[in-house]
Amino acid sequence: MSIADNIVQVRQAIGEACLRASRSEHDVALMAVSKTHPAAALQEAYAAGIRLFGENKVQEFQQKSTELAVMPGARYALIGHLQSNKAAKAAELFHAIHAVDSLKIAERLNAVALKLGKTLSVLIEVKLSSEESKHGIAPGAVSEILHAAASLPTLDIRGLMTVPPFSDDPEEARPYFRQLRELRNSLATVHPQTPLPELSMGMSHDFAVAIEEGSTCVRIGTAIFGTRDYTAQGRA
Ligand SMILES: *Cc1c(COP(=O)(O)O)cnc(C)c1O
Repeated sequence: MSIADNIVQVRQAIGEACLRASRSEHDVALMAVSKTHPAAALQEAYAAGIRLFGENKVQEFQQKSTELAVMPGARYALIGHLQSNKAAKAAELFHAIHAVDSLKIAERLNAVALKLGKTLSVLIEVKLSSEESKHGIAPGAVSEILHAAASLPTLDIRGLMTVPPFSDDPEEARPYFRQLRELRNSLATVHPQTPLPELSMGMSHDFAVAIEEGSTCVRIGTAIFGTRDYTAQGRA
């Protein structure tokens, strides 16, 4: 199946999940996660209607962006952990940073975006499980960033993002998705000036469940581009 065929299938499945949840398809953005895939794959997805791309490494996307044809209206989000020393490059390359996981990195991004005269759309990555390998901020620490929001004028803090522990059974992710939505709801009452409308949750194998739990952005890699070959990719 081609990338375009895969996108048709994914959109159809999103539509069905929205129907089950009595939600509008317009309220669920489809992000194509293009990490490890070449520029040509992004261009194919763009031709099939994709306008939002997710990449997880600054360096990989920097390289790729030099090979990409101009794609009017395309937007790029960083969805992987960002190190402080790459914040300036990230602010330059990306429209959105969807994995802000500390106040320190938020302050760093604000400083570099200020220099660039740019506003960055931001999601805060929340770590809801105790897995050692996962990045993200503890649920109780999100408030600290929202408190600082007024002193981070270049950051448009739009919402929360999470990656639940991997399980073959998408139902096992449901409690994490629900927890992210409930966290957002409780934060919204404490910080009404930063309402957090966006919930980025759901990947190839569990996006339908995420949509049922209120996702506004599903991050789909494998179901669009096929399996990733990390070994073939020296620049990762
Ligand atoms: C790779 C990645 C995805 C996409 O995962 P698939 O299972 O291939 O759809 C989504 N979100 C994040 C943060 C990722 O790193």
